[in-house]
This record gives sequence, structure tokens and C-alpha cells, in this order.
Amino acid sequence: MTAITSLLEPGTRQADTLASETVKTRLPLLADALSHVGHTQTRNRGTVGGSLVNADPSAEIPLIAQTLDATIVAQSVRGQRTIEASDFFESAMATTLAPDECLVEARFPIWPSENTGFGFHEVSIRDSDFALAAAATQMTLDGNGNCQKLSVAICGASPAPLRLTSVEQALAGSESQ
Ligand SMILES: Cc1cc2nc3c(=O)[nH]c(=O)nc-3n(C[C@H](O)[C@H](O)[C@H](O)COP(=O)(O)OP(=O)(O)OC[C@H]3O[C@@H](n4cnc5c(N)ncnc54)[C@H](O)[C@@H]3O)c2cc1C
Repeated sequence: MTAITSLLEPGTRQADTLASETVKTRLPLLADALSHVGHTQTRNRGTVGGSLVNADPSAEIPLIAQTLDATIVAQSVRGQRTIEASDFFESAMATTLAPDECLVEARFPIWPSENTGFGFHEVSIRDSDFALAAAATQMTLDGNGNCQKLSVAICGASPAPLRLTSVEQALAGSESQ
């Protein structure tokens, strides 16, 4: 498994990430979710890193970071450390970054392109509003059509994006239809 990092440096604009062919083809779940982040005007200014650190409980980029097990790289005068998404989002608008740390990289693992599908669904009052709630999932099937790897997460329904591990465990190994 590899990870895209170069397009997801902290200052990368959301619009540039959404326009990236690499993101579209290798991180299609992120591309789909990004199209729901605010408006063209806000995506032209808003950054991937800013959204992650902002940690709004309804924000799409943190949801996808949680779904895909992204890794956050934090830098301070003490050096660099990596933080798994599951340890990064602490609560609403709160992360485990220390006050003197900067997010310098976000690594989103790339799943195998064969036999992998994804779904993203958002409920909001108007198009482009923050989600009232959203759900994201990605699944890889094995050669027999059974669920080999599955990730399911929701946002807007809890202080931080939440992995539905009980759903993942219940569906592991099951037939896709
Ligand atoms: C009208 C409107 C609609 C929006 N709709 C949505 C939506 O539907 N979905 C959604 O997810 N978001 C939405 N947003 C939020 C938007 O997408 C931005 O992510 C958000 O406003 C943060 O802006 P920014 O990325 O410029 O970060 P900033 O405002 O620059 O930073 C946000 C916070 O993170 C800190 N920070 C930023 N970068 C770093 C870093 N590298 N290291 C450490 N700390 C850092 C800053 O100090 C600040 O505290 C909306 C915003 C607006 C204004």
C-alpha cells in the first residue's frame, strides 16, 4: 500500500486537490467528498491542512482521513512525529496537535485499484452547506467476491468523525451481494 503525500501538503488548496488527476484516480473517495466541501470560492481559499486542524465535526476531509486511516505528520522544534487519524481528532474543533506543532503533511493510503469501490453520502439543508451528517465507505473484494477489507465512517453525528468498527467487523468476509 502506498500513500499520496505531495498533493496533500498542508497549504494545498482544496480546489487544487479536487482538480488533481492523481487524487481523482487514486483517491476517488477523497475527490468525491471534496466536491461537497463548501463552495468553489471557499475551496479556492480553504486548505486541506486547515480543514484537518479545524476539525469541524461535520467536515468532509477529516471524515475521509478517518475512513482511509490517514497519517498526520506534525512538526515542532522538538522534531517530527506522526499521528494516526484515529488519534488525531479529539473532539469538536479539537485535535491532539500540541500548541507549538504544525501539520506539515497528510498521508492518505491508496488501496488497490482492482476490486475496490467506495461510497459517499451527505445530508445537508442546501447543496454545499456543511453536512448535517455524512457517511463514507470503501471496500475491497477478494477473488471470490467477498469483503476483504472494509472501512466505514460517519461525521456530523459525533464530536469527531467516527469509524463504525462494529459494522466493519460484521461485514468482514461476507459476500458482496
Ligand atoms: C462559507 C463557508 C462554507 C464552508 N463549507 C464547508 C463544508 O461544507 N465542509 C467543510 O468541511 N468545510 C467547509 N468550510 C470550511 C473551509 O473548507 C475551511 O476548511 C475552513 O474554513 C478552514 O480554512 P483554512 O483551510 O483556510 O484554514 P485556516 O483558517 O487557515 O486554519 C484553520 C485553523 O487551523 C490552523 N491551521 C491551519 N493550518 C495549519 C497547519 N498546517 N498546522 C497547524 N495548524 C494549522 C489555523 O491556525 C486555524 O486555527 C466552509 C467555510 C466557509 C467560509
